[in-house]
Amino acid sequence: MIIVMKPQAKKQDVDHIIQIIEAKGLTAHLSVGSEVTIIGVVGDKSHLNDSNLEIANGVDKIIPVTESYKLANKKFHPDPTSVRVGSTEIGPRNLTLMSGPCAIESEEQLLATAKAVKAAGANILRGGAYKPRTSPYSFQGLEEEGLRYMKTAREETGLAVVCEVTSAKAIEAAVKYVDMLQIGARNMQNFELLKEAGKTNLPVLLKRGLSSTIDEWLNAAEYIIAEGNYNVVLCERGIRTYETATRNTLDLSAVPVIRTKTHLPIVVDPSHATGVRAYVAPLAKAAVAAGADGLMIETHPCPEHALSDGPQSLTFEQFEELCKELKPYAALAGRVF
Ligand code: PEP
Ligand code: MN
Repeated sequence: MIIVMKPQAKKQDVDHIIQIIEAKGLTAHLSVGSEVTIIGVVGDKSHLNDSNLEIANGVDKIIPVTESYKLANKKFHPDPTSVRVGSTEIGPRNLTLMSGPCAIESEEQLLATAKAVKAAGANILRGGAYKPRTSPYSFQGLEEEGLRYMKTAREETGLAVVCEVTSAKAIEAAVKYVDMLQIGARNMQNFELLKEAGKTNLPVLLKRGLSSTIDEWLNAAEYIIAEGNYNVVLCERGIRTYETATRNTLDLSAVPVIRTKTHLPIVVDPSHATGVRAYVAPLAKAAVAAGADGLMIETHPCPEHALSDGPQSLTFEQFEELCKELKPYAALAGRVF
């Protein structure tokens, strides 16, 4: 449940309510917003039955939160959250562009990509060092060696870097090298991994599961936040449907739906959503128009030789062109880009 305070409530009224909640063994989460102060309560609310909070000083009303996710819920935190990654803020003011190869293949490939995407306008370099491939015989990633190249790319370009982690061991290595952890679609409901990511102090990019509902996705975010890490960014990357013309079906409606349900930022990945290079640009523009806080787009110096996801990767020229084309869309959406 949430306790909405009256606009004229005093600090001691708020502190008093928090004391009552904590004395009953529940947790209070304070959100001091631009319009209203809210105290979110997590735990067994029946312990508060005889506390008469409705008539306590400064309390306006008490609203039950029926969704199973609480800390990720917009009711707990009505103002949108901005997540800082390096020197970039992912949130309502900006359009954040993450780009880079599907897999880190060599230092040369990564550095060339980092320089090209930075020059075109990207803010964050993406690249996989641990690749969760459908086939065990496909390239599985350079692991810690790839992470080292990411760190070098950050040092050389100033870009923040994001890398997917697939295990607790990968998290332990990644925290030494990257600015943001990515949890991929295949691991969205790997609850132990989510908890481990929640114990770090790095922001987490949480991709939507292949066949996950929005409710399941937000509960996955809740696992991370419940460990104390509030810096979660959601990524819509397409879902499994009966359609085979594209690799997945981009659920663009997730962007406005997410806005009504959570304060967390959302970025869209049209590369994995479509699997087809030619469809990336139109859907990137549509995502910005729908209100996405950012985009994740795969790029490669030579997509036809990429070790993974070549067919959906843009060349440097195509990426540069797309960045130019995105400018009026970002301006119409009121975002700095
Ligand atoms: C990726 O971003 O490289 C990736 C594997 O994406 P997803 O988890 O969305 O399939
Ligand atoms: Mn990929």
